[in-house]
Formats: sequence, structure tokens, C-alpha cells
Amino acid sequence: MTYLWNPPAIQSLPVRGKQERLPVNRLFFVGRNYHAHAVEMGRPVDKAVERPFYFTKSPQTLVESGATVAYPPETANFHHEMELVVAIGAPGFRVTESDAHTLIYGYACGLDMTRRDLQLVARDKGRPWDLGKDVEQSSVVSEIVPMPGTVLERGELAMTVNREPRQKSDLDMLIWNVREIIADLSKFYHLQPGDLIFTGTPEGVGAVKPGDRIDGHIAGVGEIVLHIGPA
Ligand code: MN
Repeated sequence: MTYLWNPPAIQSLPVRGKQERLPVNRLFFVGRNYHAHAVEMGRPVDKAVERPFYFTKSPQTLVESGATVAYPPETANFHHEMELVVAIGAPGFRVTESDAHTLIYGYACGLDMTRRDLQLVARDKGRPWDLGKDVEQSSVVSEIVPMPGTVLERGELAMTVNREPRQKSDLDMLIWNVREIIADLSKFYHLQPGDLIFTGTPEGVGAVKPGDRIDGHIAGVGEIVLHIGPA
């Protein structure tokens, strides 16, 4: 096989304790998965009558923890969203909640960086979220921590900007938990090894500016760092 030009590199992430890197396939994101965040966005969730919803970003938006990313163009309100990331390690379609753990390879800390001003315009006009969410260098992920078959049910998730607390919650506050998300998402997609699922962000989202430093952690998973560079 020859190509007109060199194809883009495979996106990948380091894996704790391994020489091999995890090749990344797709990036899925759960919207509004913590009640207090849904309320702060003006869209409360009633789990009794709603299902989770999702958006995607291209794998080319992936950035490793520790990077410095450019403050993105066409926004004046670039927001942090700290999230638990599930790394899928086995294929699955229409899996049950009780079997969902068999798809799990491990976990990571993630930041779903967002052009909030553009996302809200799109939301309120009924347009796609891509310009607000599918932002270059906006899917930040720490090293993957292998925990095959393990379902994380609790653990503090918190982050700071310039060492000042911004977001702090616990995985037990997820509206749809890890089992429910994998089972539901697998009704729509044939999940594949290397798919990453960002499980949603808790309350306390806010803006960053050039020169800021984000530090986050999830108990039992690890830490994440991001530097915001100039535009
Ligand atoms: Mn998010």
C-alpha cells in the first residue's frame, strides 16, 4: 500500500507498568452525568424518564497529561471539565450491565476541554456541538491504569487551577454509573478495544486563560496536569 502522503500517526497513550502504549480508537463523551453539573448548566436530569446522551471528538484531539496546549481560536470562554475515562479493552455490542465489566481494560484521568461559548450557542440554536467540543488539543488524558474487569464505583475526583480548588466530587455521584454507561453506549456502537469513554464532569466547571495550570486527580486512578499556553 502506498499513499499520496504520510498518513496521520496512530493516537496512543502510555500504560502504567508497560512498555507498550494503548492505541486509541474512538473518543466518546457522556453529557450531563452529575446532577449538580446538569443544574449549573441549566438542564437538570431526571433519570426516571431520560437516557444518557453522548457526543464524540476526533481521536486527533487527544493530548497527553503534562502537555502545554494553545489557548484555542474563536473562543473567549475556554472551560475545564475533569472526568473519569474508561478504556475499553474488548469488543462488545448490546452488552448487559452485568457483563459490562468484561469490556473494561482500565481507567485514566481526563479533561474534556470545551469552548463553552460556542457549545452554548450551538445548544440553544439546536445545532451540533462540534465547534464547542471537537476542539484541537481538547481531549487530555493521563496514563492508562490497567484494571481489567474492575468497575470503579467510588473515589474522589478533584481538580485545581493554579492550585485553587475548582471541581471536587466523587465517582459515586455519577447519574449513570460505569456499568450503565457501557451497556447503554454499546446499544448504539460496536465498542472496540481502544475506545475511550469520558464519563462526564461534576459541578464547578469554569474558564481558564493563557498561563494557567490545571492539576487533577481521581482516587485510585492517578493524576493529570495541563498547561494553557498562549493563543
Ligand atoms: Mn464533558
